[in-house]
Amino acid sequence: MWRASVLTILPDVFPGPLGASLAGKALATGIWSLDVVDIRSFATDRHRTVDDTPAGGGPGMVMKADVLGRALDATGADRPRLLLSPRGKPLTQARVEALTKDAGVVLVCGRFEGVDERVISARGLEEVSLGDYVLSGGEIAAMALIDACIRTLPGVMGTAASGEEESFSRGLLEYPHYTRPQVWEGRAIPEVLLSGDHGRIAAWRHAEAERLTRERRPDLWARRGSNQPLLPDGQRPQARQALPDAKIDAPSTDPQAKPAVRPHPTGER
Ligand code: SAH
Repeated sequence: MWRASVLTILPDVFPGPLGASLAGKALATGIWSLDVVDIRSFATDRHRTVDDTPAGGGPGMVMKADVLGRALDATGADRPRLLLSPRGKPLTQARVEALTKDAGVVLVCGRFEGVDERVISARGLEEVSLGDYVLSGGEIAAMALIDACIRTLPGVMGTAASGEEESFSRGLLEYPHYTRPQVWEGRAIPEVLLSGDHGRIAAWRHAEAERLTRERRPDLWARRGSNQPLLPDGQRPQARQALPDAKIDAPSTDPQAKPAVRPHPTGER
């Protein structure tokens, strides 16, 4: 069982969306477990204080090292301990998958201006960011990280294959999806998808994934090239040349495009 422990001053917001749908079902069936630790219960004063004014002055409050340190010590050090923080290394799908190979995670949710630096170093917390923007607390970030991990655990997703072609899994964004009706507001499903020709469909999807990645995420596209193994002559293969030679149908951008005549490959519902 993959174990997530979350240290927070807002224990009531969990499991939240993690209790619904696939994640909730996997929680109920014991594929993963959630242990929510109320940091405030480790405060020792009458008011159960978890924060104090910043040394050196300035706005806001800082989470106290002594209280958070005790909460961490009660949780154990058998799993990676991460602090959700905008200063951290941005979370990636590769890191998510690496985290699920461990027994689980211990996540610390910051609040206020952040946490006392000394508890970060003394307890070896690794800072992980959700992206270059500031949330008001680590709880939503922790939920996002846990959700991303859970859906890669064996037995959580409906079909094992549905995760394999997803965005980031092959260094590409995912191809576009369509479903019935065949024509909606004058827009038709690209004809190739109704052709029943699996080779052509796969080639079209791959080309679309490459096009979207090139257009939207030049950073991912550039990294993809440099991750490819070197050819015997020391050159890097051009990602574009890796494309199958099949003729690619471009998606229809013509709003009046004629609908494809073939039935939907999975039949009518
Ligand atoms: N003063 C801090 C921001 C504090 S926001 C700064 O400027 O860096 C309060 C808490 O929200 C943080 O301690 C962290 O736990 C969480 N948080 C905010 N933005 C985040 C992000 N992009 N990724 C992960 N956690 C974040």
